[in-house]
Amino acid sequence: MTAGVSSAREMDTVDVAIVGGGVPSLVLATQLARQTPDLRVVVIERSDASARNPQGVLVHPATHVVLERCGMRLPEDAMSGRVEWLEEYRHGRRVGRFDVRHRAVDRDAVYTPYNIGLATLADAALPVFDELVNGHIRYGTTVADAERHAGMWTLMTVGADGARRRMRASLLVAAEGRDSPLRSTSGIGVVRHLFPGHVDVLAVSTRRPGPPAISMVVGDRAATTVVDNGVGPNTLLFDMQPDGREPNPAEVRLRPQVIDRVRAAGLEVAQDTTPLFSTSLRSSTVRCDCWYRDGLLLLGDAAHAMHNLGGQGFNIAVQNAAALAPAISNLLRTGSPTEIREFEEYRIPYVTALQDNQDQFFDALAEGRVSDESWLRPLHEALTLGQSGLSRYIEPVGGLIKNA
Ligand SMILES: Cc1cc2nc3c(=O)[nH]c(=O)nc-3n(C[C@H](O)[C@H](O)[C@H](O)COP(=O)(O)OP(=O)(O)OC[C@H]3O[C@@H](n4cnc5c(N)ncnc54)[C@H](O)[C@@H]3O)c2cc1C
Repeated sequence: MTAGVSSAREMDTVDVAIVGGGVPSLVLATQLARQTPDLRVVVIERSDASARNPQGVLVHPATHVVLERCGMRLPEDAMSGRVEWLEEYRHGRRVGRFDVRHRAVDRDAVYTPYNIGLATLADAALPVFDELVNGHIRYGTTVADAERHAGMWTLMTVGADGARRRMRASLLVAAEGRDSPLRSTSGIGVVRHLFPGHVDVLAVSTRRPGPPAISMVVGDRAATTVVDNGVGPNTLLFDMQPDGREPNPAEVRLRPQVIDRVRAAGLEVAQDTTPLFSTSLRSSTVRCDCWYRDGLLLLGDAAHAMHNLGGQGFNIAVQNAAALAPAISNLLRTGSPTEIREFEEYRIPYVTALQDNQDQFFDALAEGRVSDESWLRPLHEALTLGQSGLSRYIEPVGGLIKNA
């Protein structure tokens, strides 16, 4: 589509420039490039090509289908971290237990949510990319500035060696995470809701007897999510402390009340356990009044950051990438954003409701007024069935997601 492009490998003028090289960006780029061979797509990522995000995510059944249909081949053991149960405890008592094993069935295949590293997913995505002639990733390149004039974007990029280059693009996709500077220059209305404190993350060497599960253990003005995913000997603990204090990785400790909550979920952790890994996060939700305006599309956390504990941000982002690819091709062909607008109308209220659920729960936790109603119940639906009607936008999930 872009005139004057000599080679996909040397393109300085492209149809779509995606800023940020997370897995959702790779999914969008491969979908666009495969579905529309005359489209030139570039992903610009500031990290080095060998850098990998060490974080893990819970992959939902609909997301799994998207990744598979993208051509990503996961290693045999990649899905070993299948999560079979979601559980919720209040003050040591189990108030909810949800089976997530057999909720989504596509003919004979049964998809169960599983935990996997973003690094493994990126490794699986890159060979697909290598086969594209019209898609390319520029690693070690930071987008420092972007301006739109006469319907075209001009990006200023800075390479690892400090060299500055200009690139032109018809469509700019801001996928540079929840703090997205590109988003804030678009005029799109943004509301950010902060978790009222910090979330300490600790990996400890323990497993429960029995099937892998994710347990939310709610205490008095604090809660711990215990992610026992069946992969290796480690369990991840998210110690949510809505105490108004900033995250400080140097101060993270395995607190006695966390050990009690882990025990309530059926795991044993000794008082003197040294965490294998720890960090501290400031969690937030980000709501945008739309995801597309004037040649700028928001994707992933830039569009709809969620609290890290809901197991949603990555999944919504990958599903959106697959759903939006045909709408983007149409936008570039006809200039009409109608299909993108229709998708926003379908998707944004659903995403906002998930975010409201998260924010309300954490605010109530901070104020010591958590109700007896299970917080995981609506999340359970999102983790297994997904959003009703998704098959209108991602064809392969029809028959997989009940009510789709
Ligand atoms: C501890 C934790 C656990 C989580 N668990 C889950 C889960 O179980 N399930 C789930 O669905 N979600 C989960 N999430 C959320 C999920 O990880 C994110 O929603 C998702 O990874 C966001 O992807 P993204 O591509 O939008 O952003 P990111 O992954 O943040 O990627 C943005 C990229 O942009 C690059 N970048 C930034 N600025 C520039 C620039 N100017 N130029 C070039 N490149 C730039 C960055 O280097 C980065 O690689 C979790 C998050 C955390 C922190």
